Amino acid sequence: MVYVNQAGYSPESKKKATLSGDENFTLYTKSGREVLKGKLALHHDDNSGEDTAVVDFSEVREQGSYYFTDGKGNKSAEFVIKKNHYHEALRASMKMLYFQRCGMELEEKYAGVFARKACHCGGGYLLENPKIRRKMLGGWHDAGDYGRYVTAGAVALAHILYGYEMFPGALTMDLNIPESGGKYPDILAECKYELDWMLDMQDEDGGVHHKCTSQNFCGFVMPDEDDLDMVITPVSSLATGDFAAIMALASRIYKAYDEEYAKVLADAARLAWDWLVKNPAFVFENPTEVTTGTYEDMCDTDERLWAATEMFRLDGREDARKIILSVLELRISLYSLGWSDVGGLGTLAVINGGKELFGEDLYNRMVLKWVDEANRLKSVAGNNDFGLALRPAEFVWGSNMVVLTNAMVLCVAHYLTGEVGYLWTAEYQLDYIFGRNANDISYVTGIGERAFRHPHLRPTEADGIDDPIPGFVSGGPNFRPCDEAANMENMADQPAMKRYADDMRSYSTNEITIYWNSPLVFVLGYMAR
Ligand SMILES: [Zn+2]
Repeated sequence: MVYVNQAGYSPESKKKATLSGDENFTLYTKSGREVLKGKLALHHDDNSGEDTAVVDFSEVREQGSYYFTDGKGNKSAEFVIKKNHYHEALRASMKMLYFQRCGMELEEKYAGVFARKACHCGGGYLLENPKIRRKMLGGWHDAGDYGRYVTAGAVALAHILYGYEMFPGALTMDLNIPESGGKYPDILAECKYELDWMLDMQDEDGGVHHKCTSQNFCGFVMPDEDDLDMVITPVSSLATGDFAAIMALASRIYKAYDEEYAKVLADAARLAWDWLVKNPAFVFENPTEVTTGTYEDMCDTDERLWAATEMFRLDGREDARKIILSVLELRISLYSLGWSDVGGLGTLAVINGGKELFGEDLYNRMVLKWVDEANRLKSVAGNNDFGLALRPAEFVWGSNMVVLTNAMVLCVAHYLTGEVGYLWTAEYQLDYIFGRNANDISYVTGIGERAFRHPHLRPTEADGIDDPIPGFVSGGPNFRPCDEAANMENMADQPAMKRYADDMRSYSTNEITIYWNSPLVFVLGYMAR
């Protein structure tokens, strides 16, 4: 078999595919003209358990459609070589957020066949005091369920807004959403939909509630048919730290379009920061009576670090700078970009804030660790025929987020140093996501000939439409699969890269979330800049 990037390759890029199980390959144009032929020595690959080789066809630059065959006649997915080949994938990965909107009707003119009624318009009550209700209108459904979570939402927004700070032009395309043509670029209008909901999660004293979900997950029904009441769980320092950071960051970006809104965001950030200063101890409790996703995280040092970097950018506060310096003495990751470890978002704030603002010493300390990590990733990727910067034990739940945040680290290393090897390695991570993997599957719905079709996503199961909504990233292979579909397929006996099922029931390998899409938006935007 030959595994290819089903979203295609740009004419000038390094073009690589992975040959598996056979030494011979031939590349054809769609019409059957032979373009390239070769024989390669195979090596054992630990991630996939297959014998593989790298097919480098960078020399082929003519735009058009192609496919490979191996010596046994197995045909690869078809793919294109063309300029701007990621345009559709980038647009779909951003439009995904619109399809996750809560609290409004998705009209046909924007949502096409996936139009649906408004959901969850009844507000929510505070767990500690059920008599108090809040509007809780708007925001994005987090994942395959209908919950809304502050830490997850802030991280998704951060991937996109840091991308917007670094390469705004690449992300300002028409998304055909209700706000299109208004005062904000579409992507900022989309992000505002989440920010506005988040503002409602903050108390008067600045503390921010952790999540707003039903008490238990609802069934596989359309969102407007979910009539469970929404409960707002207690304030956490995790949510408050992330909230301060994202509001400060957003206030700077939105200022160019709406000064008044920027002030609302900045004031919310300051209020959250004051709460963090007054509450230096870790605050998080997971109420056992609410059984939806916990997003449990037993350390808030990284959330406080991220908040401090953005508050220093916002107001130049000395207390924020002191916190940054004290955290740098601890051993926390300064390049992690997931929902629980956000130290890398702090580093992005410092990179975008610049040496002059943060001082050369602090800037260099954070940036050097980032580049070290990019070097490590490049080395791991260089040692397997998928070009993948993962080892078998790193196929955790949501491994595609790890692949994509690794690609972010590589893109930013390229941004900092101009060394093209980082960029190529980032491209190989995208190749993997779009089909150059041992499942021969594109992990983005609607993109690629063999894209996955059965995400663990309630509307896709309940809407009666055959095709899934396009632009959703699957969580991907999970080293420790733990759901009914995984058990039925004896998945745990497979090599790590194959512990995956395109099955709606497989929440541990095939769910979707906003923060698995957002790093894809960043990386595709970086490639398009
Ligand atoms: Zn909803």
